[in-house]
Amino acid sequence: MTIISLVDTMGDDLTVCNAARVSFNKESGWDTVGPFAEEIDAQAAKAQDVQARPGDDSLWQGGAGWVYQRLNDKDAKLIHSLAREGHWSPFSHAIAQFRMKMPLAIARQWYKHRIGIEKDCGWNEVSRRYVVDMPEFYMPSGWRKRPTGGAKQGSSDELVETIFGGKPINNLVAAHYESARRLYEEMITEGVAPEMARLVLPNATMTEWVETGSVMAYARLVNLRIDPHAQKDIKPYAAFVFETLGARFPTAWRALMGVKP
Ligand SMILES: Cc1cc2nc3c(=O)[nH]c(=O)nc-3n(C[C@H](O)[C@H](O)[C@H](O)COP(=O)(O)OP(=O)(O)OC[C@H]3O[C@@H](n4cnc5c(N)ncnc54)[C@H](O)[C@@H]3O)c2cc1C
Repeated sequence: MTIISLVDTMGDDLTVCNAARVSFNKESGWDTVGPFAEEIDAQAAKAQDVQARPGDDSLWQGGAGWVYQRLNDKDAKLIHSLAREGHWSPFSHAIAQFRMKMPLAIARQWYKHRIGIEKDCGWNEVSRRYVVDMPEFYMPSGWRKRPTGGAKQGSSDELVETIFGGKPINNLVAAHYESARRLYEEMITEGVAPEMARLVLPNATMTEWVETGSVMAYARLVNLRIDPHAQKDIKPYAAFVFETLGARFPTAWRALMGVKP
């Protein structure tokens, strides 16, 4: 169960480029590729690295259709050289906001990525001091074994199917979750404060929040969390960020992912 959506973005590849060009008191613009009555095929646009914008008569006379624009080669090269040389600050002006829902244990891993993903003023989470809805619990598709070969963290692809001498692990976990849910419900019914009753909920309890961060910060997070050492359950979230920011900030994202121009 991976639940994540892109809420909004601010800026684009040109934002990154112009944040760097301000050092020389310069500003760059988009190269206009052409006007089209309708949106062109998304694959074709991706292949040419062009971005569609609603038609703007001041940019292109003649229509309310779509205007296609692309970064010029000099600006694309600049973005790649910024990433290569570790000039990270221009990438911090391109921003994205996500809404996501994860089990507490995985959310805690995500939360460790602090710099450039606002924690003080831009992270808002469901509060179980107020909310007493019945909690949802994460049920993984299988219970992976410990890793082999002396690795201290992670898991193997093999699954443990049964415990206690042949009892299906999934049934036992479902019963455990149900028992936690009932205990929680009873405590709430009997007047225990939500901030106290939540203490009996397991690590698999889903939590939900909205966060805002820079493309720079998400690139660092994605690089660490799609790595083979990262926990398998966090990877689909990192993969979603990879896909969405790759589509919205194609040149900056490729540069930060180390893809050659
Ligand atoms: C596979 C894996 C296993 C992990 N295991 C554990 C674990 O067992 N226990 C645990 O607690 N954490 C663990 N972590 C979390 C890890 O230690 C980092 O906290 C987390 O990956 C966030 O890293 P970040 O570089 O995105 O950090 P951020 O805090 O977002 O910082 C971003 C960058 O800013 C710089 N920076 C941040 N703070 C400072 C500072 N105080 N001084 C100087 N430079 C700074 C660093 O260059 C850093 O890379 C693990 C992470 C991964 C990916």
